Amino acid sequence: MNSKTGKVMVIGGGIAGLTAAWELSRQNINVELVEKSCFLGGHSIGFTCKATDTCKQCGACSVEEMLANVVNEPLINVHLRTEVCGLEKKDGFSVSLAKSAVEEVAPQGVLKGFSHHNSPLYVVADGAADAPEGAVSIDTLGSEGAVDVDAVVVATGYTPFDPNLKGTYGYDKWDNVITGLDLENIIRENGSLVRPSDGEKPKRIAFIQCVGSRDERLGNLWCSEVCCPYAMRMAGVAKNADPEAEISMFYIDIQNSGKEFPVFYEKIKEEIRFVRTIPVDIYPLEGDSLELRHMAEDEGAPSSEQFDLVVLSVGIMPGMDTAKISEILNIPVNQDGFLDAVPGDSGVFVAGTAGGPGSIAATIAGAGNVALATMNYLGGSK
Ligand SMILES: Cc1cc2nc3c(=O)[nH]c(=O)nc-3n(C[C@H](O)[C@H](O)[C@H](O)COP(=O)(O)OP(=O)(O)OC[C@H]3O[C@@H](n4cnc5c(N)ncnc54)[C@H](O)[C@@H]3O)c2cc1C
Ligand code: SF4
Ligand code: SF4
Repeated sequence: MNSKTGKVMVIGGGIAGLTAAWELSRQNINVELVEKSCFLGGHSIGFTCKATDTCKQCGACSVEEMLANVVNEPLINVHLRTEVCGLEKKDGFSVSLAKSAVEEVAPQGVLKGFSHHNSPLYVVADGAADAPEGAVSIDTLGSEGAVDVDAVVVATGYTPFDPNLKGTYGYDKWDNVITGLDLENIIRENGSLVRPSDGEKPKRIAFIQCVGSRDERLGNLWCSEVCCPYAMRMAGVAKNADPEAEISMFYIDIQNSGKEFPVFYEKIKEEIRFVRTIPVDIYPLEGDSLELRHMAEDEGAPSSEQFDLVVLSVGIMPGMDTAKISEILNIPVNQDGFLDAVPGDSGVFVAGTAGGPGSIAATIAGAGNVALATMNYLGGSK
């Protein structure tokens, strides 16, 4: 048992950081939660509910619940728009904080959080006209200076694969080629699935799996684990909204693990067409449609098909600050570029997708374990 006072810094306010912070606070441990952007929640706070006739276990609502827990917990002190810029190991750690670079502010000068639990909900640039009620100036956000803590949990998350690196799919050229994250945004903003070019309901939809993952040419050999489930759930949502929609999923392998997922997979196979091939390229056709060329495994010759919308199932890549965090906190990086596990007696812990791909449920479970390991390091519950 050591003599730690029981204050932990959690870096990153996605579901991993929120969970670790919340679990630590349950044991009366004070938490300094540092989030680089202006809002807590990370990537998954913006996800929509995928329930159709039943809950599809997408995990989105658990992120909302955890955010509500954290913003109402006095033991958790939140630093928005803040980054770690240095760390000195003393008895515990002295961590230097700095304001993160001002985010890209929306054209009208207003940034909006995804959840009504985001506090503030609106952040505005100076001089923005018609600031919404309760909006906070971006200049007032951000912490600076040194904070002493006894342990550090790193939960800086992932970066979605950049679809422009797969140039033949024309993501930057054709409006109706979108990513899985774009699809989340479209459904959230419109309340239904519409295609970007004209706001019409797409009738023929293609999903392309393993975009950026399991790709030898890119050197990304890992499976991102989440893109098969999210694509199939989204396909289920589209089919439920329009039973006439024709949905095809182009894949090489299917990640079909988990407790509930195999059952859902068997059911969705009756509703959508699975084609085992990697599409080669995509071209525009008249009427905003797209031609997708592929080499079907059993046909041996190239074929092409028309679609109204193509969704690229982009995978989970190492977070963009991984190198910086690795250097400041002295955390090794594994062969895939994610943060590696750190020996438990170092006082530094890695949680969530900063350490490799995972779903919301897996991230919550893993971050809970990290909180437990951190408490053990601190010498038990306070
Ligand atoms: C297209 C797509 C769809 C998905 N759909 C699903 C789904 O339906 N169900 C599911 O279970 N999973 C889904 N996932 C996976 C899900 O997004 C992750 O499991 C989850 O977001 C991981 O949470 P995290 O906290 O580890 O990382 P993130 O969500 O990436 O959060 C990391 C946080 O850390 C902050 N941060 C980064 N760097 C720093 C820094 N230097 N200092 C301070 N803060 C920093 C970021 O701003 C962010 O807030 C999907 C993934 C993708 C790509
Ligand atoms: S887990 Fe997903 S599908 Fe189920 S209720 Fe929550 S948000 Fe909806
Ligand atoms: S989860 Fe599916 S789409 Fe994603 S990398 Fe793994 S096999 Fe490919």
